[in-house]
Amino acid sequence: MYALSRAEAIGQELSSVFPAEFVDALDTFRNEQGVHHLYKFPLTTRAGEMRTANIAIAPLLSRDFVSVGRIILVDDITERVSLETQLAQSDKLSSIGLLAAGVAHEINTPLAVISSYAQMLSKQLKGDERLGPVLDKIIQQSFRAAEIANGLLNFSRTSTTEFRDTNLNQVIRDTLSLLEHQFKTAQIIVDLELTESLPPINGNPGKLQQVFLNLLLNAKEAMPGGGHLRVATQINSPAGQSSYVAALVADSGSGIAPEHLKRIYDPFFTTKTMVRPGDRRGTGLGLSVSYGIIQEHAGKIHVESAVGAGTTFHLEFPLLRNSVHV
Ligand code: ADP
Ligand code: MG
Repeated sequence: MYALSRAEAIGQELSSVFPAEFVDALDTFRNEQGVHHLYKFPLTTRAGEMRTANIAIAPLLSRDFVSVGRIILVDDITERVSLETQLAQSDKLSSIGLLAAGVAHEINTPLAVISSYAQMLSKQLKGDERLGPVLDKIIQQSFRAAEIANGLLNFSRTSTTEFRDTNLNQVIRDTLSLLEHQFKTAQIIVDLELTESLPPINGNPGKLQQVFLNLLLNAKEAMPGGGHLRVATQINSPAGQSSYVAALVADSGSGIAPEHLKRIYDPFFTTKTMVRPGDRRGTGLGLSVSYGIIQEHAGKIHVESAVGAGTTFHLEFPLLRNSVHV
């Protein structure tokens, strides 16, 4: 972790090797007996990387029980913690999913009725300066409510999703062609770097298209004054692990504040609450639905973001021939 050899480390003060917080934490137990634990302690390495460690501090006793020093164990649990958060996230989503799908289903029917009667009335009252705009509001808002209800329905795992050989490049091309015009008017330059002859994944093109639509719309909304969008695919074959198809959606937009990073996959988490003219209010469902879909595909999603510089979403999907589970 510290990129320091034994010879370099021996004889040094703890404080010249480890960060001050760590040494301070150790000092609080200096004159205490027994074993002490520090759980999930944030540890910055010399390379500036943030790791998480469990630390145990035990007295080192001589044969006649005289304390002659301390044993400090540092267990790097960074990867385990990140797996834990992912598990917690998918748990949260599946219980919300059950509830939400039921409610959304019940709400969808009356909404459709409200919306179609309002549209009917609006046709009859065309030209009425007082009531026309009122009805338009009702129609608009019932569309918005339907959008939310449909987003919720997507949590439902009960609907059978058909999986088949899917070419991710094709999914991306189809999705981009839906947005081509929007990107042009928003002055967003799209760099497409799709790897030729990408092997197929086991997927549902419709649902995957929804994932990319969500990611691309978020990217667009993060670049209100225009910018660069990079969409790339490639095949990765890490040594000793199964190969996977990787996709990346990177924008040069506003970035995500560090305190929001943990919450972006939560249902209804949105920062798009201001309604400027022409702006869409957020539902906070895009990423949580996408997260669910990617889970269904046995895939992974993770994000890197720098405020003011941009955001990159990385996606991974197992190859078709790796995924023959029975
Ligand atoms: P919505 O777009 O409706 O707000 P999402 O679930 O799609 O909901 O996204 C949740 C939040 O994550 C957004 O409100 C925004 O704050 C943040 N976010 C997602 N993608 C990006 C991005 N590419 N750039 C900056 N912020 C993003
Ligand atoms: Mg969104």
